[in-house]
Amino acid sequence: MSRYLDAKYQPLVAYVPGEQPRDMQYVKLNTNENPYPPAPGVIEAVQAEAGRLELYSDPVCADLRDALAGRYGANRENVFVSNGSDDILNFAFMAFGGSGDRAYFPDISYGFYKVYAELFGHAYCQIPLREDFSIDPTDYLALNGFIAIANPNAPTGLALSRAQIEDILQSNPEHMVLIDEAYVDFGAESCVELTAKYDNLLVVQTYSKSRSMAGARLGFAIANAALIADLEKIKFSVNPYSVNRMTLAAGLATLKADEYCMENCRRVVETRRKTVDRLRLLGFEVLDSRANFVFARRPGSDGGWLYRELKARGVLVRHFDTPRIRDYLRITIGTPAQMDVLFEKLEEITKHPITQ
Ligand SMILES: *Cc1c(COP(=O)(O)O)cnc(C)c1O
Repeated sequence: MSRYLDAKYQPLVAYVPGEQPRDMQYVKLNTNENPYPPAPGVIEAVQAEAGRLELYSDPVCADLRDALAGRYGANRENVFVSNGSDDILNFAFMAFGGSGDRAYFPDISYGFYKVYAELFGHAYCQIPLREDFSIDPTDYLALNGFIAIANPNAPTGLALSRAQIEDILQSNPEHMVLIDEAYVDFGAESCVELTAKYDNLLVVQTYSKSRSMAGARLGFAIANAALIADLEKIKFSVNPYSVNRMTLAAGLATLKADEYCMENCRRVVETRRKTVDRLRLLGFEVLDSRANFVFARRPGSDGGWLYRELKARGVLVRHFDTPRIRDYLRITIGTPAQMDVLFEKLEEITKHPITQ
């Protein structure tokens, strides 16, 4: 830390992304990327734009917003796009996170919510998940502040129903409810349709997981026009060109081939089902995931130890060394071949007589 860093940022603890080690080729099951390549037409669209890099991108992102509006049954003024959904979460916490007494989100959830709350100096409350790691929706009724919920939640993979979220929306009419649907295409109920009915709902989605575009950085939000205008105001006060030309083109080309992406999601869901069965055969307890990862522990086997043994064998999974979840591994669903490697290594490791 330099002596120039503003005092208010000195205690800030930044988000820690999943590791991207370069010492060897890993089977990468640690950052919930999609195992399938981008949609047909995306590479050509990106190449065409690469020839026009001397020109700024469209700050309004009109074509992409229109296409997303068409896909989700909304209008351009209901759609916001930016450089990854992390960017949108950042803007949302900046714009809305300070309302009421404090911001509310689950104690075990996407790690960025806490980082953004601290970045903007908002008071916040991390509401404990139930013992079984589910969210108790009644904990979120009639609160006095901004609410952020990942649905499905990360890293648990558990989802609330649309009806449960609607109860939360109805009981918090004075405050914004952000539903982060990064994983919704893998089997949860989306709340997008509720944005027409509730002016306090912001639904955030990303191209990173279900649309195989993590490296392009593209996220979008759907909400009533006034909320979107607020986000636009923030974006135009920070970086109007936050989505570059190549990513805009990739986003459009991907939507044109959306059935390819949705088919890949079905493949991931099928691989997830088999993965859960195989993990249970190896003695793992696995939560009921609606996402492209599973959250699992093996009673008697230390989570950190399992993570290290897998890494030594070339398989990367995510381990969070934090209270309540340090026994668990979060394992991204890869291709069937990648999962075969995982199980080959897990079988080797769990045969080992010492499990610590
Ligand atoms: C991956 C993820 C994001 C971030 O997505 P980007 O669009 O890649 O920034 C947001 N929320 C949750 C819960 C995620 O898991």
